[in-house]
Amino acid sequence: MKTIGMIGGMSWESSLEYYRLINKMVKEELGGLHSAKTLMYSVDFGEIEVLQHKEEWKKLTDIMIDAARRLEKGGSELLLICTNTMHKMADEVEASIGIPLLHIADAVAVSIKKQNLKKVGLLGTRFTMEQEFYKGRLNDLHGIEVVVPCDEDMDAVHNIIYNELCQGALTAESRARYLEIIEKLIASGAEGIVLGCTEIPMLIKQEHVDVPVFDTTLIHAEAAVREALNT
Ligand code: GLU
Repeated sequence: MKTIGMIGGMSWESSLEYYRLINKMVKEELGGLHSAKTLMYSVDFGEIEVLQHKEEWKKLTDIMIDAARRLEKGGSELLLICTNTMHKMADEVEASIGIPLLHIADAVAVSIKKQNLKKVGLLGTRFTMEQEFYKGRLNDLHGIEVVVPCDEDMDAVHNIIYNELCQGALTAESRARYLEIIEKLIASGAEGIVLGCTEIPMLIKQEHVDVPVFDTTLIHAEAAVREALNT
């Protein structure tokens, strides 16, 4: 089994999910007392979030590269960046290490294509919904059309992530607001919804939505386990 390196802490609420899911899947696959071989370098999200909102992407890239190199030095054989947003600098991180980086959007694209969907709605931080690094990759590399919420709805999605979900707060009111936004994305042609922020799956589940939802935390963790076990 390969050792999975994880850059975590963005937020730790979702890193906990990665750790739980990866170990659960390895146990399901290998049985008995088997568990995953992992390393996690967990950052201080308070520092990261301030830099994100100041758009200090160069500094953030350096922090991600430093974390990735520590994980590689520690013996990781593959790397996960345990957040969608920080895939903004995935190419730079990948170029600075000698182990493979499993890109979250590529794993999600495989799942979308398995269901034969051509157009999906994307929810995530404003950085993920607005910038090209994520939706551009889905579109250019994988031929998947992406729709995003209007400006006001983007604000709601973004603020709920930072002010609530990353702090472990799950409320019925925010779930209702998300579901209202999801309905609008479906009305504009989305055949599925990408929960493109690793905390959203704590709030929104498949049972809440009529079209397929793509839980990026689960999908990314599954891809890592497949790679680690070579299955
Ligand atoms: N975990 C979130 C994501 O998947 C947001 C935290 C972050 O900004 O990295 O994008």
